[in-house]
Amino acid sequence: MNQYDVAVIGSGPGGYVAAIRCAQLGMKTAIIEKYPTLGGTCLNVGCIPSKALLDSSHHYEDAVKHFEEHGIDIPGEVKVNLEQMISRKQGVVEQTTKGIQFLMDKNKIDVYEGLGSFKDATHINIALANGKKETVEAKNTIIATGSKPSTLPFIKLDKERIITSTEALKLKEVPKHMIVIGGGVIGLELGQVYKRLGSEVTVVEFMDRIIPGMDGGLSKELMRSLKKQKMKFNLSHKVKSVERVGDEVVVKADDKKGQEVTFKGDYCLVSVGRRPYTDGLNAEAAGVKLDERGRVEVNDHLQTNVSNIYAIGDVVRGAMLAHKAEEEGTLVAETLAGQKPHINYNLIPGVVYTWPEVAAVGKTEEQLKEEGVAYKSGQFPMRALGRARASMDIDGFVKILADKKTDEVLGVHMIGARCADLITEGVTAMEFRASAEDIARMSHAHPTYAEAVKEAALAATEDRPIHI
Ligand SMILES: Cc1cc2nc3c(=O)[nH]c(=O)nc-3n(C[C@H](O)[C@H](O)[C@H](O)COP(=O)(O)OP(=O)(O)OC[C@H]3O[C@@H](n4cnc5c(N)ncnc54)[C@H](O)[C@@H]3O)c2cc1C
Repeated sequence: MNQYDVAVIGSGPGGYVAAIRCAQLGMKTAIIEKYPTLGGTCLNVGCIPSKALLDSSHHYEDAVKHFEEHGIDIPGEVKVNLEQMISRKQGVVEQTTKGIQFLMDKNKIDVYEGLGSFKDATHINIALANGKKETVEAKNTIIATGSKPSTLPFIKLDKERIITSTEALKLKEVPKHMIVIGGGVIGLELGQVYKRLGSEVTVVEFMDRIIPGMDGGLSKELMRSLKKQKMKFNLSHKVKSVERVGDEVVVKADDKKGQEVTFKGDYCLVSVGRRPYTDGLNAEAAGVKLDERGRVEVNDHLQTNVSNIYAIGDVVRGAMLAHKAEEEGTLVAETLAGQKPHINYNLIPGVVYTWPEVAAVGKTEEQLKEEGVAYKSGQFPMRALGRARASMDIDGFVKILADKKTDEVLGVHMIGARCADLITEGVTAMEFRASAEDIARMSHAHPTYAEAVKEAALAATEDRPIHI
């Protein structure tokens, strides 16, 4: 029987990063993955393929709507070749997942392809893909089994027309009318992909705002921008039935007055969140406790109630984000090596990759109000930037929230072009506990979108932005 210092179950961004860090720290490491490709949700059916399609559809939209203004004439009609678009996306996925295999080999990590299930707290049975069974012994195990799309109890996902994000990443035709249930990150990103490709897109959301959980100012500005792009929104609507009738999908919901509204489309994307995934893991054989929401219960060190078993990523509490899973993978590896690592969960940025992009770190205005923190706010519109006008990407703003007394930055919220990358400045500043004045006094290259961060900091610290 093969013996390991650490066995990692699941090869998503949590699992594979944990495995690499364990190997770097000198531990004999195995990783167990039930699918033939490594990388988990993120690389196979999540972050990477969705960004590939967002990018392709963005190019198409630019060609159709903006090239002429830029002085680029295309003879003939610009057309979507969905098959090629999906195939390019798949190529990106294959390249990326092979990269993880390379990293496993480089770090001498043993990869087992098969379903891992606990025999007891130190042994894992693996139902190998080749039909054989194997058991490995591990001093420590890291559960990194991730999550799966969740649904509503009355919805029967047929995965053809009533679909989740996984199917939406490989459709064979551009829907005529896609009904998106859920105005969160995944629904909006994939909704925008198909809107750009020519679908009518109707979002039905239970809450009274999209991207709930992010700063209210961002929700409003994103909805304004997506409405300009002709996406339709129905907020405060409680979906109560989703039926397929031939090639049509009929969605019924109650609006906020309790009146029934019917939506008809040819596809319905159900994007109401994700559920932690522990099917087949046999956690009970190891004595590992799950909480009431099916997540593996962990303490501040990501240790389960069984001292040699840890859990990370989407399968535990907290934001379901790839970079959060990665940080947790590193934390557990370093803890096992006797180090004292730390994660500041307040500084895990959240990003929506629509265009305009939305990104945030730290506290929202709503949270600061609720916590009774005295704060000041500085906001700067993207449209006032030379860079934004040069690229004709003028929607959005940067907002910096700072402590009223000390000027320490408490939150950075932004919407606009390239915000997914820009937010790192906010994370860095907050990690070093910068004041708004610190950011305002740093030189920001001109012309860049980053100048909006400096200007918002100027507005927050002394209410003296230069360019408005
Ligand atoms: C459409 C979409 C877009 C997204 N975009 C982003 C984004 O832009 N940025 C971002 O930060 N996050 C994004 N996410 C979320 C991100 O994908 C997840 O937060 C991340 O993948 C979680 O990583 P993980 O390692 O915890 O689990 P996962 O990536 O889910 O990996 C878990 C792995 O464990 C394997 N597994 C499960 N059980 C077993 C078992 N018993 N034995 C063996 N293997 C097992 C699974 O097959 C899977 O490969 C997106 C998600 C979706 C669906």
